[in-house]
Amino acid sequence: NTTRNKIMMVPMNQWIKIKAPATVANMVCGFDILGFAVNDPYDAMEMRLVETPGITIINMDDYNLPTDPEKNVAGAALLALMEEYGKPVGFEVKINKLIKPGSGVGSSAASSAGAVVGANHLLGNIYTKDDLVRFAMNGEKVASGVKHADNIAPCIFGGVTLVRSIFPLEIVSLPSPPLHVTIVHPQIEVRTADARKILKQNVQLKDAIKQWGNIAGLVAGIMKADYDLIGRSLEDVIIEP
Ligand code: ADP
Repeated sequence: NTTRNKIMMVPMNQWIKIKAPATVANMVCGFDILGFAVNDPYDAMEMRLVETPGITIINMDDYNLPTDPEKNVAGAALLALMEEYGKPVGFEVKINKLIKPGSGVGSSAASSAGAVVGANHLLGNIYTKDDLVRFAMNGEKVASGVKHADNIAPCIFGGVTLVRSIFPLEIVSLPSPPLHVTIVHPQIEVRTADARKILKQNVQLKDAIKQWGNIAGLVAGIMKADYDLIGRSLEDVIIEP
């Protein structure tokens, strides 16, 4: 447990700033398992410890997201952390959403991840990154109905991450080569919860074989910095062929 060290709690009422990056999950053939973080855009957040136990969410943008901690993904993630922390603690969270909600680049994951990374820093870094992913997944449950880590993991670990397993949770952080990404956004809002409803539930073995060949090729390409192999492997034959 490398993050458990002697860093002290941040003093009461002292604000800290958090940059929670957008993430691309469902990396082509790596649906639900491979994702990566980008430098820009990010949610700009500020947090502080306060005397009164509980969570206060202050929205700094015009998206009118809920401030009820159980309905805002940042609050839901913090509630999971607080339950495990066990002692009464109070957080104030300011959220400036620079990642448009529902825009497909992990807007909800950014706020969930940012909140628990911030809380961990305020409490003196008592939790591991794996713990933080576990807490933040409760935010994803609020946003989309299921606990998934494909955006949360790269948001917390940075770079490219593989969610090898959700239960039990195993995140593999991949040493990614320098990559630029172009994100095309069609300016339509699709909620993850709705998008998941139209997925087909059965796959053909021949398609599965192609898909896992591509996933293995993609991971090998990322680790070997073999850009041609990455390019050839970026093919999805199952989810949206
Ligand atoms: P995204 O791909 O942007 O994460 P989702 O559809 O997964 O989109 O999540 C967006 C949903 O989560 C919306 O219904 C939004 O109201 C809700 N939500 C609650 N709190 C937040 C927050 N802090 N940031 C983003 N979305 C939030």
